[in-house]
Amino acid sequence: MPDYERGKVPCTRCGSAEGTALAAGDRVTVALRNYEGHTWEPVAVYCRSHDVERVADTMDVLAEEQVVIAATLEATGYLDPLSGYHPNALSFGGVELIDYSPAKDGY
Ligand SMILES: [Zn+2]
Repeated sequence: MPDYERGKVPCTRCGSAEGTALAAGDRVTVALRNYEGHTWEPVAVYCRSHDVERVADTMDVLAEEQVVIAATLEATGYLDPLSGYHPNALSFGGVELIDYSPAKDGY
C-alpha cells in the first residue's frame, strides 16, 4: 500500500527493500480493481523492470472490473478525512489503459 507520509510505494515484485521504493516522477504499472463498483483500489504497483500487461498476470480474475494501467507517480498530496492532509502522498498522472477485465469475466 502507498506510504502516505513518505510519498513512496514499493514495487510488488522488488519488495519493500529500502532504495527500491518508487516515488514521484517514476513511471509505473499499476493493477487496480473496482471494489464493489464504488472505488478503484490499487492492488499492486510495478516498476519498469517488472511491467505487466495483463490483469490475469497480477491477480485472480474476479467478478468485478479490473484494469492494468501505466502511470507516472505524482506528489499531489492527499486529504484524508480522518488524519488530515498528507502533502507527499502520491497519485497517478498520465494514465494509460493497458488491459481491462470486465466484471462478467469473473463468473
Ligand atoms: Zn520491481
